[in-house]
Amino acid sequence: MNEASQTGVRVRVAVQTPAHSGISEPLTYITPSPVPAGALVRVPLGQREVLGVVWGEAGEEPAGTTLRAVAAVLEGLPPLSAGWRDLVEFAARYYQRAIGEVALAGLPPQLRELGADQLARRLARQPKAAAAPVEGDAPRPPTAEQAAVLAELRAGDAGVFLLHGSTGSGKTEVYLQAVAELLEADPEAQALVMVPEINLTPQLEARFVARFAPVYGPGAVVSMHSGMTNPQRLASWLAAHLGRARIVLGTRMAIFASLPRLALLVVDEEHDPSYKQQEGARYSARDLAVWRGRREGARVLLGSATPSLESWWGSRPPSDGDAGGRYRRLSMPSRVGAGDLPTVRLVDMNLQPPRTRLSAALVDAIAQRVARGEQSMLLLNRRGYAPVLACGDCGWKSECPHCSAYRVFHKIDRSLRCHHCGFAERVPRACPACGNLDIAPVGRGTERLEEELAELLAGVQRPEGEGGGPVRIARIDADSTRHEGALAQQLAQVHDGAVDVLVGTQMIAKGHDFRRITLVAAINPDGALFSSDFRAPERLFSLLMQSGGRAGRDSAWLAAQGSRAEMWIQSFHPQHPLFAALRRHDYAAFAEQQLEERRAASLPPFAFQALLRADARTQEAAQAFLTAASAAVDDLPEAAAVQRYPAVPLAIQRVANVERAQMLVESESRVALQRLLTHWHPRLHALRRGPEGQGIIRWLIDVDPQAI
Ligand code: ADP
Ligand code: ZN
Ligand code: ZN
Repeated sequence: MNEASQTGVRVRVAVQTPAHSGISEPLTYITPSPVPAGALVRVPLGQREVLGVVWGEAGEEPAGTTLRAVAAVLEGLPPLSAGWRDLVEFAARYYQRAIGEVALAGLPPQLRELGADQLARRLARQPKAAAAPVEGDAPRPPTAEQAAVLAELRAGDAGVFLLHGSTGSGKTEVYLQAVAELLEADPEAQALVMVPEINLTPQLEARFVARFAPVYGPGAVVSMHSGMTNPQRLASWLAAHLGRARIVLGTRMAIFASLPRLALLVVDEEHDPSYKQQEGARYSARDLAVWRGRREGARVLLGSATPSLESWWGSRPPSDGDAGGRYRRLSMPSRVGAGDLPTVRLVDMNLQPPRTRLSAALVDAIAQRVARGEQSMLLLNRRGYAPVLACGDCGWKSECPHCSAYRVFHKIDRSLRCHHCGFAERVPRACPACGNLDIAPVGRGTERLEEELAELLAGVQRPEGEGGGPVRIARIDADSTRHEGALAQQLAQVHDGAVDVLVGTQMIAKGHDFRRITLVAAINPDGALFSSDFRAPERLFSLLMQSGGRAGRDSAWLAAQGSRAEMWIQSFHPQHPLFAALRRHDYAAFAEQQLEERRAASLPPFAFQALLRADARTQEAAQAFLTAASAAVDDLPEAAAVQRYPAVPLAIQRVANVERAQMLVESESRVALQRLLTHWHPRLHALRRGPEGQGIIRWLIDVDPQAI
């Protein structure tokens, strides 16, 4: 094709280009007639034809460039809004990824495969939303605290609100009511409600559907999460994009839903680390919700019993010489129905007989509850039977041959499994190094805890009134829930009262509304007190508060039982200030103390961080890349305002025979950090061919990393 035939309109189109291409901007194509920005098109890319989003008109190309033509415009679909495109572009720039990658990841996968005709047929199939609201939505009268919060939400302009409410204070009711008021006031407005893990919260979905489907029709509430099939995701996406769905309920991926009339964004359990994507574009859906809300002039409601320290600091009230945070803080300290928060009981493990795993007092407290027909929940953050298998004679340990980690002993199928690369083998009969037959598990995981509990509670009988019989123990963790539907089934058993004692990892601590649990115990939480990750205490406090919140949620039943809710903690450091604050249920005191430490150490929220990660065949090559990368930005004016730390191996240095290293970069100025990262990107791309014979270095940038 010669230049003379290149007549038409030049448009920029966001397409998914391969990561190694280094292309981060939309590509230019030519079309015979103008196509609006936001339109979906099919364009040639290499040998293929792919889906793209028109990003706008393009400027002049350098002379001699031959442009390829847009192959088709997907008619019948309104263009993606300027707000959506701005969100994608902001996320791509902030998290240092290609615009096309973020744009395409934000669209349902099936859209990539459909031709214009197929799409037209799919659009015709969409059910119509019910036109007029029908009677039947009669919310319970709000409590005084709920009413006060709703009044503030109603009165305030658009903006960001942090709802700090105890577990069981009725935050979910506030979300429902706020959404209800919005939908009533504006017949087109849409709301986005995000939860950390939708598989763990089918109850929330049920509550929204029960409340809104009778009023606005069955299509008014749609879900978006990775557990859905591609056709389901396409249907939800279309419903939201066309304005037929009024409420989108989803996990972090829902932040990129196309919502042309978005007026309210709710982020439930806003502190939860799962809002941070851990691959590809490593975005924080919570932070993007705040950005998107501002862009759209929508209200943003962040809710938590234990807000992230970033959000807590961001919502501080004004004080002398400080204008205060940009968020408005709303509080609901009481539990609905005046149920008390659980009493916290600390067991000093220094005073227990040597090698005690479960203190006698705790076992006794659990036994009493079994005998009364109540439920208990035990948390241990380690799955499997034992983290290591070891030989007492020669010192052999169950190391993974491919990783710098031990393989975990799983007794159920007598396997040694690496939790990092998945490498699994049958447990050897004898020590592979010296032949000793007596190799033994060291330490313990949930499987072993379950086994020990069964022995300790063997003589305990359930109450005659409830059928009697021996104690029923269940375990919920990533192993027990591997098969589809297993988690839902196991949770249902707990709800139905078919389980007396539930053992599990933190998976069981989140959001479940178990009515009969009166005791929650953390078996061995000490590791987090002295972790090298500065966020570990924050995570532990929130985990303990949240799981404590599972106990005694039904106050009337509790009173009738003559029981009370307790949270047990076994620790070798019972004097730790974290536990003192927990005992008083005093999140604010804990947060103040942590913020002081963070300020003194110049850590977030008082500084901004990014990680540069490198993966290579050898640790030397990975670190050499990082060191060269650091030197490559010495000349930038921002370099002085951004601290670059030395390259270090990751805590688990080698996974699946890949050596991993990282470099922390930090600044008190987010702008300086962002500028440096933006200039860094192309230079890193140029550096990635490591030393001769070492192969290509794989690298990534993680902005606002959640684990250091
Ligand atoms: P949170 O999300 O803060 O943990 P929920 O919204 O789940 O709390 O409310 C806790 C319990 O209190 C739920 O069983 C809920 O149905 C009930 N509840 C919430 N608000 C009210 C209200 N205004 N009147 C009666 N019960 C309520
Ligand atoms: Zn041995
Ligand atoms: Zn491994």
